[in-house]
Order: sequence, then C-alpha cells, then structure tokens
Amino acid sequence: MVKEGKRLLIDADVQAVLEKRGIREEDIQGVLDFGEETGNVYIHPDTGHLLSYFTPATTTYWVEFGRDGGAYRIYRAYSHRMEILHGFNMPAKKQQTLDWTCMKCDRRLELATVKLKYMEETFGVDIPACPSCQRIFVSEEDATQRMAQAEKMLEDK
Ligand SMILES: [Zn+2]
Repeated sequence: MVKEGKRLLIDADVQAVLEKRGIREEDIQGVLDFGEETGNVYIHPDTGHLLSYFTPATTTYWVEFGRDGGAYRIYRAYSHRMEILHGFNMPAKKQQTLDWTCMKCDRRLELATVKLKYMEETFGVDIPACPSCQRIFVSEEDATQRMAQAEKMLEDK
C-alpha cells in the first residue's frame, strides 16, 4: 500500500531522465516522506531547493525538490547502489565548503573523506558532508558518473 502523498510536479524533461534511470514515483515519494519525517534535508541558499535522500533497501535515492503550494516540484532525482558507511567521516586533505546547508544543523557542508562500500569492497572518497551530523551529500555527478563507474568496474571483476 503506497502512502497517499502530496502531488508531484515533474516536467517532461525531468520525467524522461527519471525513466531512463528507472526511478519511479514511489521511490521519489519515499525520499520526500523520509525527509519530512526526519528533517534530514539540505537546502541551497540561492535557489531555495531542497535535497534529501533515502535508502529503502539496497539503492539510495536522492531527490532535489521544492515545495510548490500543496505539491512538490521535482528538479532532479538520481540513485546509486554504493552503500554509504555512516560514522566513518574523516577530514579531507583539501578544504572546500559548499553552499548546500544541512537544515537540521544549520551548517554548510564541507568536503570530508567518507567510506563507501560496494560488493564487499570499501573505499574512502572525498565527498561533501555536514560537519555536525556527518550526513553526506552525493551530487548527481558523483552518483551518475564516479559512483556508477566504480559500481560497474566492481561488477565486471
Ligand atoms: Zn547536519
């Protein structure tokens, strides 16, 4: 039984990308529900866009969205299967602060060396994270390029 959610507003070009990536409306709704319930949401100060993620099983879904009246406008969504190992963040060698801000902690995200796992392999990669609650931020580029390549490489081994 799918929980009755708010209406999703998705432009045709965004919808086409979602279909190509095999991301369904239920997956998006799951992320939105989780974000609303937990307050685990990032906000971009310039655009006001919100970003949240959720891992219902083995795939992690990310959704960038906005509130539009009683509905949600979906700007992008992407996914990765690489698992985020929470709680192992280390300071990155390179310092970088993002505009994206953790709403829960009111802290801007900073580059950190975080641990990811896929098919029994663990790696450390530099990815933005909240310096307070340690939640990490996977960009669309990281998910669809860097992580997708690594996933494929490990599957082909
Ligand atoms: Zn935080």
